[in-house]
Amino acid sequence: METLLEVKDLHVTFSTYGGTVKAVRGVYFHLNKGETLAIVGESGCGKSVTSQAIMRLIPEPPGKIIKGEVIFKGKDLASYTEKQMRSIRGVDISMIFQDPMTALNPTLTIGTQLMEGLREHQAVSAEEAKIKALEMMHLVGIPNPKERLKQYPHQFSGGMRQRIVIAMALICEPELLIADEPTTALDVTIQAQILELFGHIQATTGVSIILITHDLGVVAKIADRIAVMYAGKIIETGTKYDIFYDAQHPYTKGLLKSVPRLDLKEERLTPIDGTPPDLFSPPRGCPFTPRCPLAMEVCDKVYPVTTERSRSHQVDCWLQDERAQQLLARTANQ
Ligand code: SF4
Ligand code: MG
Repeated sequence: METLLEVKDLHVTFSTYGGTVKAVRGVYFHLNKGETLAIVGESGCGKSVTSQAIMRLIPEPPGKIIKGEVIFKGKDLASYTEKQMRSIRGVDISMIFQDPMTALNPTLTIGTQLMEGLREHQAVSAEEAKIKALEMMHLVGIPNPKERLKQYPHQFSGGMRQRIVIAMALICEPELLIADEPTTALDVTIQAQILELFGHIQATTGVSIILITHDLGVVAKIADRIAVMYAGKIIETGTKYDIFYDAQHPYTKGLLKSVPRLDLKEERLTPIDGTPPDLFSPPRGCPFTPRCPLAMEVCDKVYPVTTERSRSHQVDCWLQDERAQQLLARTANQ
């Protein structure tokens, strides 16, 4: 499989009056062509910051990409100038956010916004732009596209607005679509329809997708692979099957227990006790130690090495590594 994107050792901080928040602390992952990777974790774990760093949309200051590589089609976007990035955003990589209204201009018709999005980047005639806009409206499932092109954002429902935002994101035929909590603001039935739409779009256009979400239920529907983030690090990565049927990290297991199950009459949600660590001064060992029912002495002293359970499945947890006890003995002697 061809790799489209590879993120290596990404570190992002934010300066605040209270000190420096280490929001992303050495993140590694890759995305293959044509696949959907879900980055999952609680709010504040660094998943949105990671996706903004890929697009170089971190507000600097207070944010800063301290180090890391973002290799997209063989080129390191982390070394690009802002001008070079502008030729990538919306063209090669597009991003959509939780609230569709922020991406739409309330004073312009949908047709104008779609066509402008295309003509900003491509030398096409107004007629060609209109044809493309209609094609995109059709792709995202908006009925009567000819009529609806003349309407304004407020004339659409929330779900329809999110479809339009997706159409705008795709009009230049990007190779990568990053969607940050794209269904969180929508009600449940509409959420399901938008998730189905992602599947349809991928099957039709072959676009690769990074889906950022706190909701494992969402992920189960459309992800091929899953990266679980906690306290600024990816702590487990695997295929959807690795994560749903063979999760190894105690945090991932906890997340899975807190997913509502439709097959149970009574909903038994088990939230994970405790809160994530303070990222002003993150622990040097495993950040899950204070909440982990299986924590050992080594855990809060040394960050676990990444263990390969299989070619597709990696875990950062000392339970995977028999050397944990030896390491503990060594640090005890230091
Ligand atoms: Fe729990 Fe230790 Fe594994 Fe962290 S490294 S998840 S504390 S067992
Ligand atoms: Mg977020």
